[in-house]
Amino acid sequence: MSFHSSYSFQTIGIIHSCYTQKFGIPRQPGLVKEATATLELLPPFNRLDTLEGLDEFSHIWIHFIFHKCLTDSWKAKVRPPRLGGKSKVGVFSTRATHRPNPLGLSVVKLGKIFQEGKKVLIELHGSDLLDGTPVVDIKPYLTYSDSILDAKSGFAPSPPNKKIVLFSTTAEEQCQEYNKQTRRNIRELIAEILSQDPRPSYLHGKTGKLHAFQLWDIDIKWQANTTHFEVLYLEPIQSANKEAR
Ligand code: SAH
Repeated sequence: MSFHSSYSFQTIGIIHSCYTQKFGIPRQPGLVKEATATLELLPPFNRLDTLEGLDEFSHIWIHFIFHKCLTDSWKAKVRPPRLGGKSKVGVFSTRATHRPNPLGLSVVKLGKIFQEGKKVLIELHGSDLLDGTPVVDIKPYLTYSDSILDAKSGFAPSPPNKKIVLFSTTAEEQCQEYNKQTRRNIRELIAEILSQDPRPSYLHGKTGKLHAFQLWDIDIKWQANTTHFEVLYLEPIQSANKEAR
């Protein structure tokens, strides 16, 4: 009997998210509350009856594919950011994206479930999913068995410390203008994302470098200082550039 079976799954839905680039995405769901995403069910699963009863739950589990890691190889030991990128632990002791099977798991707050023409859409709050992420399953979060109050959490016993985030006058004005045009609270979203310090560990302690991360079609330019992070300005991404990313 062979234990080397392979399985194939159907994509049941696709994520539309503010995160249009991997850099900047929080390392777990729930850390950036302002992040909203929409899960669009794909045919033949774009039926409201598949979701009947789900709105009785406040949170759901999303099983998804790390589709931007498919060509990368996995390693037995990895350096989790929470250990400062210094120590290695086994890949199965981490939530790293480079795994033998590129499967992700996130618990998110359930928003509205609605239909738009033939589309069946589910609003998600606090997600850590990249735009275009393929979803393979949805399950309700069950408090009585999924929430374990005396659980031990290894090298990540509590949420990461938050950084102080300030905005330049230019960035403040640009956020206000963007909010006026789109109704998106981009200021709060940026503040929450940067407070999580998205930098890779090897850049911790380095100051003065110009960093950028992308939300929708906007580049957010910012700088790390010793006492705080500063959002300098926002820059719309030209469509030619967008394709290249
Ligand atoms: N909550 C998930 C993800 C943890 S890793 C889990 O535990 O399985 C979090 C990182 O996944 C984010 O920083 C983001 O860069 C990355 N990510 C999110 N969606 C992705 C995708 N579709 N492909 C590749 N990486 C993705």
